[in-house]
Amino acid sequence: MASMMQPQIILLKEGTDTSQGKAQLLSNINAVTAVGDVVRTTLGPRGMDKLIHDDKGSVTISNDGATIMKLLDIVHPAAKILVDIAKSQDSEVGDGTTTVVLLAAEFLKEAKPFVEDGVHSQNLIRSYRTASALAIEKVKELAVSIEGKSVEEKKGLLAKCAATTLSSKLIGGEKEFFATMVVDAVMAIGDDDRLNLIGIKKVPGGNMRDSFLVDGVAFKKTFSYAGFEQQPKKFDNPKILLLNIELELKSEKENAEIRLSDPSQYQSIVDAEWNIIYDKLDKCVESGAKVVLSRLAIGDLATQYFADRDIFCAGRVAEEDLNRVAAAAGGTIQTSVNNIIPEVLGTCEIFEEKQVGGERFNIFSGCPSGRTATIVLRGGADQFIEEAERSLHDAIMIVRRAVKNSTVVPGGGAIDMEISKYLRQHSRTIAGKSQLFINSYAKALEVIPRQLCDNAGFDATDVLNKLRQKHAMQSGEGASYGVDINTGGIADSFANFVWEPAVVKINAINAATEAACLILSVDETVKNPKSESAQGDAAAGAMGRGRGGGRGRGMRRR
Ligand code: ADP
Ligand code: MG
Repeated sequence: MASMMQPQIILLKEGTDTSQGKAQLLSNINAVTAVGDVVRTTLGPRGMDKLIHDDKGSVTISNDGATIMKLLDIVHPAAKILVDIAKSQDSEVGDGTTTVVLLAAEFLKEAKPFVEDGVHSQNLIRSYRTASALAIEKVKELAVSIEGKSVEEKKGLLAKCAATTLSSKLIGGEKEFFATMVVDAVMAIGDDDRLNLIGIKKVPGGNMRDSFLVDGVAFKKTFSYAGFEQQPKKFDNPKILLLNIELELKSEKENAEIRLSDPSQYQSIVDAEWNIIYDKLDKCVESGAKVVLSRLAIGDLATQYFADRDIFCAGRVAEEDLNRVAAAAGGTIQTSVNNIIPEVLGTCEIFEEKQVGGERFNIFSGCPSGRTATIVLRGGADQFIEEAERSLHDAIMIVRRAVKNSTVVPGGGAIDMEISKYLRQHSRTIAGKSQLFINSYAKALEVIPRQLCDNAGFDATDVLNKLRQKHAMQSGEGASYGVDINTGGIADSFANFVWEPAVVKINAINAATEAACLILSVDETVKNPKSESAQGDAAAGAMGRGRGGGRGRGMRRR
């Protein structure tokens, strides 16, 4: 009787979807593996590209893991973690985004049979973490420093790293050309941390090889008024004035309210307005500047005024570009024309307005501070140039990384094979189940060379056997052997200059292991039910909005 009286315990709302235990874990692993399969084929120099079009009809062609992951509209909660690690790899090191996704998926794939057999995932996680620490230690040990070389030598080495990154991209055919360009650009900005000091400008049309590097700033000619044609378009060593003010007649009357009692006074107001603007323009001219740039509009009156005095002007310059001119030419942006001292003016060796393809460009080269560079990209279709820009971004990041912590490891799967071998050897010294788990981790690392082969159409089993044999050599001379992408055999990646910065690998191994462990540690997913009636939904929505809005305003006020 008493048992019948017992109340039923209701923990979650009706309709809540929960799945837990082994089944949930396996389903998460399957989802992650599926995502890995999507990006799998893009790895390496022979990787394929993905064409992604969204519901708005925009089309992107990309080989970049992070870009693809971003554009894929992944809804599975566990698989979303892979999107995050790809993003973090992209922002941390800039390259190795496909690698990180692939590794995470492979770690989980290897873990799957154990999970099915009832191994507790905490055991797997512990072993994976140990394996990852060992692997990273090994990468650091195997990394070769390129420090202490002469500038020319170092440039050559950096170009090799850039070329390896670019070889898997659409512009891989011209990798030497672009690698040199990227290295020059990075060297130009020195050890400044601001990535936006390297500008990339895209001009559709022309040939890839028409792309060029400006050791300074270049931007598209801004909108200009009548009188612009009469301005000179080239200066040697001009003084450059950078402004953040509007040089237009109308601005004055819009900024003030004036009450007149006598109509005859009107003329004096008009005169005053003209005087104000002429005064401003005079001050600009007196400063000795030959090039005047402003973030705001420079109107027709000012344009004509400057033209009469052989001064070049450009209004509505994008903030980013103006900042880069300031960084390169050494000036500071003024918000008033009063008291323009010589120190705030910048300068450069040559200023020029030039035709590039169908566009006119303002180009400032030979800048004294030299801390900026601009790559002007040319090429056929829009999608092509955009992918080229993403590829260059990867290469720039890699070179900057290599400049900072200048150690490299052999690519083409060589380093992965070597760590794999090391972990296998290490696992033999461990007693217990952990041996199996570390062995699986080691096996998962082989996915990189295997996929490089698969994507190039080589016989992966054959190549991997050769690689295993090379890496197993006692003398250690086979340690840098990786997949030879040209012949389908194996080759010394170091000798072939297939180099990657060590930090790419370290970060990839770290992030992929963390992601795998995170997914292994989840044993239950709870999905809250939607509100039952549409009415209830709307009411809840309105309430949410009301409250949210209030909070938002409160935040802004603070
Ligand atoms: P990710 O997004 O991970 O950088 P990529 O498509 O750029 O992926 O491919 C990187 C992989 O390709 C690395 O493992 C690298 O070592 C390898 N790789 C790059 N160039 C070559 C080459 N010339 N020969 C063999 N492997 C290469
Ligand atoms: Mg890459």
